[in-house]
Amino acid sequence: MATSVNSSGTASNSLGASGPQHQPGATDVAEVFELLSHSFASGRTRGIGWRIDQLRGIERMVNEHEAELLQAMADDFGKPRFEAWMTDLMPVAVEASHTAKHLARWMRPRWVWPGKANLPGRSWTVAEPKGTVLIIAPWNYPVQLALSPLVAAVAAGNTVVLKPSELAPATSAALARLIPRYLDPEGVVVVEGAVEVSTALLELPFDHLFFTGSTTVGKVVMAAAARHLSSVTLELGGKSPVVVTADADIDIAARRITFGKLLNAGQTCIAPDYVLVERPVADRLVDGLVTAMAAMEGADPGTTRTRIVNDRHLARLESLLADSGGSVATGGAVDHARRWIDPTVVVDPDLGSPLMSEEIFGPILPVITVDSVDDAIGFINGRDKPLALYLFTGSRATEQEVVRSTTSGGVCINHTVMHFMVPELPFGGVGASGIGAYHGRSGFDELSHRKAVLRRGIRPDLALTYPPFTEAKERLLRRFL
Ligand code: NAD
Repeated sequence: MATSVNSSGTASNSLGASGPQHQPGATDVAEVFELLSHSFASGRTRGIGWRIDQLRGIERMVNEHEAELLQAMADDFGKPRFEAWMTDLMPVAVEASHTAKHLARWMRPRWVWPGKANLPGRSWTVAEPKGTVLIIAPWNYPVQLALSPLVAAVAAGNTVVLKPSELAPATSAALARLIPRYLDPEGVVVVEGAVEVSTALLELPFDHLFFTGSTTVGKVVMAAAARHLSSVTLELGGKSPVVVTADADIDIAARRITFGKLLNAGQTCIAPDYVLVERPVADRLVDGLVTAMAAMEGADPGTTRTRIVNDRHLARLESLLADSGGSVATGGAVDHARRWIDPTVVVDPDLGSPLMSEEIFGPILPVITVDSVDDAIGFINGRDKPLALYLFTGSRATEQEVVRSTTSGGVCINHTVMHFMVPELPFGGVGASGIGAYHGRSGFDELSHRKAVLRRGIRPDLALTYPPFTEAKERLLRRFL
């Protein structure tokens, strides 16, 4: 097969439920893979021209179809316009444009010292594309988490199969419709579908798998990668803690924690999951959170609230709340008809409760009182390595201590979530929260293979290291190196 053909008879680079004809089966996805492997082998994606065309295509697509994409996200889970633009569309446009601007420099060879043993000589690395890459995206930022990995993959010169999430079907359909109009149909193909489609894709010998989603499915993806020794980027989830010390600005902390928690109704991989606060300021922080939650909800939450993605997740959140063992300082009400849950603060929950062991992924914020920063560090280090760690403090010494004594994908001091928006900070997890990182140059590097090259001078051609390995040669060589 070449590209799939839609009902109007024109070539298309999308396959799937809302795509041209049908849900793709194993044969279809194998044919897509073959097409993309073939185009990669032809060399068409290697030059900077192709890469820049794709990056500019992504940027134009997001800008020219802003209304359509915003509507799709509203249809999928009621994501409000401004929030969807700020957290889904704008970051993609910025990432594509930043990458296009710097790509020529990132693609240059990087020189390294060849060492005395290789003089005269020069050595360097070249970034070459990995080949054909599979991107599997989640539903929660359905444009951004599909297209930002795509930016990195095409910048590095790879061909790509992109599988959006079936839990955001309108956005998945919009991407399947738009991508063929802006990107090379023989370089990027959208395949829509659910677990069966992912499973069929994971059977194929992709050169790299870029997965964003839950830690549980991340393990499935890594096991699939092992069969072909495909390299992986795993952008996973987990519980991102917030530490608030007694010398922090408590009002600012309350507002910024609330901002990070309420984004996307808490359905954010780097949402502040729970708070560890030093005892002297615990009550003030809880009061501040209650006030900030009321203020950020606004007078008419009906127009500004993101819905919980489906009934299963709403029921999960209800049960986390019911079994928390803590006291509810604000919120707790659930609206089943609109799939909403009021922003909720739970004070001192049972530390063994599911609320404190599972990723919350909703607008519920547990606050736990601790006696010291050391206790907070011990608490964090006793659990899986988080994707993000947030610290509110007025002390540089505390800042250094926390950064030095904990491990996490990233740290954001005196704010939440915003480190994600720094173009040149690598974004990724560690341990259970993921493997690898992207954004900016890190994304280009992640989706490239750095090939090592040494060019030795022809003369002099010292026989010192050639056999026979005599003692005299050894003495001389030891003196030289
Ligand atoms: P998910 O793991 O359920 O699904 C992600 C993708 O994997 C979807 O495209 C889905 O179709 C596919 N999938 C599901 N089950 C599969 C299986 N058995 N085999 C192969 N593919 C399968 O995650 P989700 O519910 O879409 O997203 C929420 C999770 O993702 C949260 O844990 C969140 O923290 C995490 N997340 C992480 C990041 C990050 O950047 N680190 C970003 C967003 C979300």
